[in-house]
Amino acid sequence: MSETTLSALVQGQFINGRVTEGSSGQYTSVTNPATGAEIASIQLAGTADVDAAVAAAKAAFGPWSTTIPAERSAVLAKFARLMEERAEDFAQLESAQAGKPIRLAREFDVPGTIDNIDFFSGAARNLEGKATGEYSADHTSSIRREAIGVIGSISPWNYPLQMAAWKVLPAIAAGNTIVLKPAEITPLTTTLFAQIAAQAGLPDGVLNVVVGKGSIVGDYLLRHPDVDMLSFTGSTPVGRTVLDAAATTAKRVHLELGGKAPFVVFEDADLEAAIHGAVAGSLINSGQDCTAATRAIVHRSLYEEFIDGVSKLYAQVKIGDTTDPATDMGPLVSMAHREKVAEMVERARGYARVIGGGIPEGEQFANGSYYLPTLVADATPDSEIFREEVFGPVLAVTPFDTDEEAIELANDTPYGLAASAWTTNVYRANRATREIRSGCVWVNDHIPIISEMPHGGMKQSGFGKDMSTYSLDEYTVIKHVMFDLTGDARKEWHRTIFSVD
Ligand code: NAD
Repeated sequence: MSETTLSALVQGQFINGRVTEGSSGQYTSVTNPATGAEIASIQLAGTADVDAAVAAAKAAFGPWSTTIPAERSAVLAKFARLMEERAEDFAQLESAQAGKPIRLAREFDVPGTIDNIDFFSGAARNLEGKATGEYSADHTSSIRREAIGVIGSISPWNYPLQMAAWKVLPAIAAGNTIVLKPAEITPLTTTLFAQIAAQAGLPDGVLNVVVGKGSIVGDYLLRHPDVDMLSFTGSTPVGRTVLDAAATTAKRVHLELGGKAPFVVFEDADLEAAIHGAVAGSLINSGQDCTAATRAIVHRSLYEEFIDGVSKLYAQVKIGDTTDPATDMGPLVSMAHREKVAEMVERARGYARVIGGGIPEGEQFANGSYYLPTLVADATPDSEIFREEVFGPVLAVTPFDTDEEAIELANDTPYGLAASAWTTNVYRANRATREIRSGCVWVNDHIPIISEMPHGGMKQSGFGKDMSTYSLDEYTVIKHVMFDLTGDARKEWHRTIFSVD
């Protein structure tokens, strides 16, 4: 698809069921990180646009939250089918704005999103609670699970479509309305997503998208008095700002933050599988994945063989033209981000063994923010590359001698989002899943996610769950309803007040 055709898919803001222009007077240039070419120039939202979006969401909440689950489910089912029809448009737009290889967008981002919509279409009809019953002899108690209200949500640039979907779908399936602010460098598929949802019958105001700067529009949304809950996916430092806003305005909050996933290769691992897993798990989306394998912790007996195997496969990864289905890895999201990644690797050269890496040479890479796969061997546990989130195609490797040491290294991080354990010993595998402190532990694999299972962190990777029916808990509030069974004016328990009969 040419960039001229892509531009036909570009929208600005999506407020109260309509595509609108931002009102800030400031523009953001959305560029293709693979080519440096501008795809769109969008007028950013200002605080007046947030006010309009929140007002629309507030007005839509009453009617939407009182629809029966089957109605919400039907809208979502239709939404999934319309997304299927537009799958290629979404894949092209996502690939262009985020610099993803088209194969990744076609086979992962877009079908994953459609599956998520289908899942929440079903889950909308399966909200659960404790059984109604007599927990006091004189009363019947029951549970109402209710929508919370207007959700203020903020999403990142690494998987713009999927991260927006993970925020929006459980929220609206449960009957909430939402104002979502995508990252301003990758807003295009989020606005199109909202537009297609409206075409599927989602009422005006239920899903609004404001494209604006985090520090202005994002901050304003977080502190808005008519926003009832905050849900955020992004970095841990900005997550702290979200918590601060939640504290000062007393709002419920759900945070999906950074990660620094350990990839533990025990002495009995299938080494070939571990090597392939490390390459795929560290390079997916150019390593710009919160669950990417970033710290390979490898038993000393396999250490050099692992490094050799990974670096050989790294050299075979096909990097380049993101529109070519044969391309394995695209650029980083921006030149600024590449600079940050490159600087961290340069610093690592001073204290560790860096294999590969750097900016690729050649005409086809000249205008893109490409960075080569990089292995940083002998990374000490206290080093920057082992501790800090790089968010690039960089895998730090460190050896261990005992299982205890491996688990200690895996847990020696403020993050706790995802991890993997590579072993053919069932007891070792079970111990690892119990002892590693993270929201997900894969055994003999790294990265797969599924709509039915929760995604979310521990420690400074945040709290709350995306996807699965657990995410519906985040976006609903439980109300206790209690009925008196006696009809008596003077209840048994009134003895605490009326001491004399
Ligand atoms: P980021 O924190 O810089 O930005 C995320 C969003 O927050 C953007 O929309 C941005 O505009 C907004 N923002 C920035 N400053 C703000 C402020 N002061 N107030 C309100 N909003 C503000 O993150 P990023 O660079 O876009 O994304 C990468 C990060 O996201 C990584 O740390 C990654 O690990 C994390 N991430 C986590 C998950 C997860 O599920 N846990 C998933 C994807 C990405």
